[in-house]
Amino acid sequence: MITVLNVDGQKLTPCVLDRAWREVNRARAVWIDEQTIQLLYNPFSFRDYRKTALKRDKYTCLWCGRPATTVDHIVPSSKGGSDLPQNLLAACMACNTKRGNRSAFSYLIEKVFSVPNLIKLSYRIIKARRNHRQTNRCKYSSTA
Ligand SMILES: [Zn+2]
Repeated sequence: MITVLNVDGQKLTPCVLDRAWREVNRARAVWIDEQTIQLLYNPFSFRDYRKTALKRDKYTCLWCGRPATTVDHIVPSSKGGSDLPQNLLAACMACNTKRGNRSAFSYLIEKVFSVPNLIKLSYRIIKARRNHRQTNRCKYSSTA
């Protein structure tokens, strides 16, 4: 098992090696030594962001209008998408699973006739993608 430290260096629940590598590969954690990773984000705030996004969207899946219990990342975390509410959509388990790692736009095209509020959803996606590009641009310019 791998020791997991939070942003402040406090120990969290340990995780398996696969999971540790996944966090590191997504730039969400760094290796401290062979047995320890430190997270670069606060896992407790993700819980809060998730709750904020669900509440904002009235616990209704934006893809199909059914009750939502999960959140869907507009820009997937595997592509560096943030965990902030602006990048999250309330989604039912079925839509979240079906979309998987596909881009939000390609799933939108598939669901275009069942989306309850197409304008609202398109606007959200466009805004999240624009935010994502701007954040990345800042990252590049600060390292230059
Ligand atoms: Zn749904």
